[in-house]
Amino acid sequence: MLDKRFILDNIDLVQKNCDARGGKVDVSRFAELELQRRTLQQEVEELSRQANEVSKSIGKAKDDAERDARKEEGRSLREAKDAKQSQIDRIAAEADAIHRSIPNLTHPAAPVGGEEKFIELRRGEVQPPKMGFPVLDHVELAEQHALVDFEAGARIAGNGFYFLKNEAVLLELALQQYAIELLVGEGFTPTITPDLARGDILAGVGFIPRGPETQIYSVENFDLNLVATAEITLGGMYAGQTFDEEDLPLKLCGISHCYRTEAGAAGRASRGLYRVHQFTKVEMFAFTLPDQSEDMHNYFCDLECDLFNGLGIPFRVIDTATGDLGGPAFRKFDLEAWMPGRGEHGEYGEVTSTSNCTDYQSRRLDIRYRVKGEKGTHFVHTLNGTAVAISRALIAIIENCQQADGSILVPEVLRKWVGKDRIGSSD
Ligand code: AMP
Repeated sequence: MLDKRFILDNIDLVQKNCDARGGKVDVSRFAELELQRRTLQQEVEELSRQANEVSKSIGKAKDDAERDARKEEGRSLREAKDAKQSQIDRIAAEADAIHRSIPNLTHPAAPVGGEEKFIELRRGEVQPPKMGFPVLDHVELAEQHALVDFEAGARIAGNGFYFLKNEAVLLELALQQYAIELLVGEGFTPTITPDLARGDILAGVGFIPRGPETQIYSVENFDLNLVATAEITLGGMYAGQTFDEEDLPLKLCGISHCYRTEAGAAGRASRGLYRVHQFTKVEMFAFTLPDQSEDMHNYFCDLECDLFNGLGIPFRVIDTATGDLGGPAFRKFDLEAWMPGRGEHGEYGEVTSTSNCTDYQSRRLDIRYRVKGEKGTHFVHTLNGTAVAISRALIAIIENCQQADGSILVPEVLRKWVGKDRIGSSD
C-alpha cells in the first residue's frame, strides 16, 4: 500500500505508474473521494459540536415548550450527523478499495510493457544440453518410472492434483534438504509455516482472500485460507511488530505447501506438474532497512542461481516487465529453467521468482523499525524469493537429466539424500 499523503501529492506520477503496470485504477477518483471524506468529516464534527451545545442548553430552558424545541433541535442535528457519517463510511469504503488496488511504485530500471517485454539479465553456468536422442517430457518420463500418479490425484481431488511416488518423493525431500542446508548456512532462520492463514494476513501481503478474483482456496465457515505461498505466513509472522534497527536485516526461510486455484489459467502451458493446485515450496523472506533492500534482492537472486547451478540445470534470469509485476513488487527477477520436453524443441519455464516489495506490504501489515535515540518509527522493507518450488524443479531435473537409455541421472548434490545416482538404471 502506498502512503496516502504521497498519492495525493503525486496523483499524475501514481496514475502513470498504475497504467505502466496494466492496472485499471482511477487515482483521481481516489483523490476526489478523499477530499469529499475530509469535507464531510469536518461537517460531522461541526454538527456534533452543535448537538452537544444544544443538549447542554436543555437544562437551562425556561419552560417545557422551549425544552421540547431544544430536544427536537438536538435530535435533528444528530440525525443529520448520522446521515453524513453513513455517507463518510460509504466514501471511505470506496476510497479504501481503490487505495488497496494501487500497486507499488516501480524500480526505474524495470522494463516497461507487457509480460513479453522482460529483459534477460544473465544465464546459468550450464547450457541447454544437446540430447542426440528423442527427448521425452516429464509426464512421459514420470509415467515410465512410476514417479507421479496424475490419475489418482484427479480422482481424489480433481485435475491438477497428483500423487508423487517412489524416487519423486525422495527427490522432493532431497530438494527441501538441499535448499534448507544452503539457506541455514547463509544465516536464514528455518521454519515450517502453517499452510492456512487468516484473511487479513493474506490481504496484508497483497492477496485477495475471497471473492470472484481470488486465486485462493478458502475454508467455509472459518476466517481461514490455504496459503498460495509461505510469503504469506512469513510476512504475516511479524504483523503489527516493531524491530530495533540493529535487528535488521532478518532472513527467514519457510517450507509450506502452496495451494492455487489457478482460476483463469486455462490454456496457459500447464501440462503435468507445471501448473498444479498444490505443490511444496521452500521460500526465502527478509525484513530489511530501506537502504538494504536492493542488495538483499540481488542476494536472493544470487542464491536462486547458486541453487540451480548446483543442480546443473541450465537457466536464464529475467528482469520482469512492469505489466507482470503484480501489486506488491517494486522489482521482480524470475529464474527460468530450460525444460527440454516443453514446447516443440524445449523452452524456458519459470522456476523461481524474487521480489523487492519495499514498504508496500509492511504498511498494510504494520511492520516497523525504530532507530535508537530517535522518536517515532519507520516501515521496514520486505522481500521474498523462491528457493525451490518442488514441482517445477522436478520437471527441470527429470527432463534435463534424462539419458539415451531412458534413465534419469540424479543431480550429484542430491544423491546423499536420494540414496542413488540414477532413476531407472539396471544396476
Ligand atoms: P510466485 O509465488 O507466484 O512467484 O511463484 C513462485 C514459484 O512457484 C514460481 O516461480 C513457480 O516455480 C512456482 N509455481 C507458481 N505457481 C505454480 C503452480 N500453479 N504449479 C506449480 N508451480 C507453481
